[in-house]
Amino acid sequence: MLNYHLAREEMVDLLEEKGIRDPLVLAAMREVKRHLFVPPNLRSRAYENSALSIGHGQTISQPYIVAQMTELLKLSGRETVLDIGTGTGYQTVILAKLARRVYTVERIPSLAREAEERFKRLGADNIVQKVGDGTVGWERFAPYNRILVTAAAPEVPKRLFGQLAEDGRMVVPIGPRRVQDLKVVIKREGKVYTSSHGGCVFVPLIGSGGWED
Ligand code: SAH
Repeated sequence: MLNYHLAREEMVDLLEEKGIRDPLVLAAMREVKRHLFVPPNLRSRAYENSALSIGHGQTISQPYIVAQMTELLKLSGRETVLDIGTGTGYQTVILAKLARRVYTVERIPSLAREAEERFKRLGADNIVQKVGDGTVGWERFAPYNRILVTAAAPEVPKRLFGQLAEDGRMVVPIGPRRVQDLKVVIKREGKVYTSSHGGCVFVPLIGSGGWED
């Protein structure tokens, strides 16, 4: 049987080699058991640095991109985070370790249900979730100090930017369906400041502020 603990340590070594520096991010990646989030037939590959299929045409992101996006959010432990695209809930649990509270939205009900079971089993009690179109955000708990979008948008979804707190940061892959650019969007005195952090490939963000189904 595969030694998951050792495999996870090796995965984190690789993340460090690839340039992830934030010790809190590395610690969270060391702690959260990715093999509990992937489909059983792919468990032996859970600690490879690759995206894996989770059904419904969706994927759990590559560990490196999870670490990179989390690092770009610059979390101190005090923030509220809006997380769009719960998927398996892996990224959500990483965020929940590093922030005060995470609000997560998924459009596919069965994925949301499976993620909910994982959150319960792991005792992650600072996660609030719902099913719906995350491109319109979640007005009820806005504004958020941080927003993470783990699906690719054609442009920065306006409703999400509207729910970002002053001095807040949003991390979102922007670009055409095939390949995108990882963007950090900052709100300062109500204005948008954007920087680019390299190429990436995500499944499409589908909804009123994203792509058509
Ligand atoms: N963060 C996830 C992987 C994300 S895959 C993980 O760690 O497993 C992208 C997810 O975004 C998919 O589950 C997809 O169904 C979801 N998604 C796409 N468009 C969405 C939308 N408008 N609102 C909410 N979720 C959306």
